[in-house]
Amino acid sequence: MPEFPEVHTVIETLKEFTLGKTVTSVDVLRAKNVEGNLNDLINCKIESFEQIGKFIIFHFSNKKILISHLRMEGKYFLRNKDEKYQKHDIASLTFSDKTSLVYNDVRKFGILKVSSEDKYMEEEPLSKVGPDPFKLKDPKYLLDHFKNKSIPIKTALLDQSIMSGLGNIYVDEVLFECRIHPETPAKTVNLCDCSHILEASREILTKAIEQGGSTIKSYHPKEGVSGNFQVSLKVYGKKDGTCVRCGHHLRKIFVGGRGTTYCPKCQRNPTIQEVIAITGPIGSGKSAVLNVFEKLGYECLDADVITHELYKDKKIQDGIRKIVPELVIKNGDIDRDYLRKYLLNNPNKKRRLEKYVHPLVSDVIINRIKKAKTKVAMEVPLLFESHLDDFADKIIYVDSSLENRKKRLEKRDKNYNETLLINKDYDLENKKKATHVIVNNDGVASLEENIKSTFCR
Ligand SMILES: [Zn+2]
Repeated sequence: MPEFPEVHTVIETLKEFTLGKTVTSVDVLRAKNVEGNLNDLINCKIESFEQIGKFIIFHFSNKKILISHLRMEGKYFLRNKDEKYQKHDIASLTFSDKTSLVYNDVRKFGILKVSSEDKYMEEEPLSKVGPDPFKLKDPKYLLDHFKNKSIPIKTALLDQSIMSGLGNIYVDEVLFECRIHPETPAKTVNLCDCSHILEASREILTKAIEQGGSTIKSYHPKEGVSGNFQVSLKVYGKKDGTCVRCGHHLRKIFVGGRGTTYCPKCQRNPTIQEVIAITGPIGSGKSAVLNVFEKLGYECLDADVITHELYKDKKIQDGIRKIVPELVIKNGDIDRDYLRKYLLNNPNKKRRLEKYVHPLVSDVIINRIKKAKTKVAMEVPLLFESHLDDFADKIIYVDSSLENRKKRLEKRDKNYNETLLINKDYDLENKKKATHVIVNNDGVASLEENIKSTFCR
């Protein structure tokens, strides 16, 4: 779908090939897409063009106006008057120089509307189009329009009745530039944010227009003018990429049904509580660390506990049975001893099972983080692999000697050697990604002291 800069480029091309021409006849091939009488334009000369949001406005002599919106796939073609019509042609204007401007629309969502100078701004659709970032001078306008809205800022910026010009692509780019999380409630942004949004919108659109402009010469209306330029985007469409600012991987979510890419580190969600993530190899004493945070009043989430809760869900058991057909259920719960042995001998199945279960666990954790009323501590052994580090403000890596780890496992788990073996693929490189390392070799009292002195200041 063409956005504001592409529409700008279409207008530049239309100017080049039709400005000053006089209409001698018109044809309507699909009346559904045309509002008003195109015959009103006969004997009128195209005097100028104007862009309002993503609308193209033709200003004719005799105070006549033609409003055009390309929607998904609308295109203009300049042809010779005698050329045959093609599939999906909607309407045409023929000029005195025997050329015709043909509007073609494969998806048929575009509109053409005839109006006049005295009323075109007062009637729909233009009466509902807000000013674009170039016409908007005062950021307070945005603040006033956002102040009562609980909807996400992304949705508010897509609302063309507030400000026109930003579509899905450029909203993501603007919010990234301003370090604002797309789900931030519109009413919580301040004047400084609004000023930043306005500036970034102008800058990004200008750059896109310039880049579009640099290829305009290769666009001739005979080939159809739709405008579809590659611009240097930093987040849009780059869900597998990394942040150009901080190097963190980008994340894709859906906001108001629209695909949205952002950097979880640069664009923190202000509606969620502070989150401390606890990770580290098996037996390092992560749970002891979590217990300390529980005492300190944190809401605690434990990925292992959540996994075991999910294992009791009948639907999830059925899902797991598709991977492990020999699954044993005891008293409504999965026999975990059996499952562990099975996975030890079937590493491929282990990978498939993880691929199925991990996203379910992540969803539960993300939902609980979003609903939390106090600060959150979460224990997630595979923190980075699950990308739950996206939500963490601080990351604690719990370290402990192998000897201590074995001792801890021995106490709670008769199969501790197998457990160590099945968890051997923990990536020790993860230690470098943590913001805090806690060495847990000296018992609970010392651990508690250590955590309090670091996190309760
Ligand atoms: Zn970043």
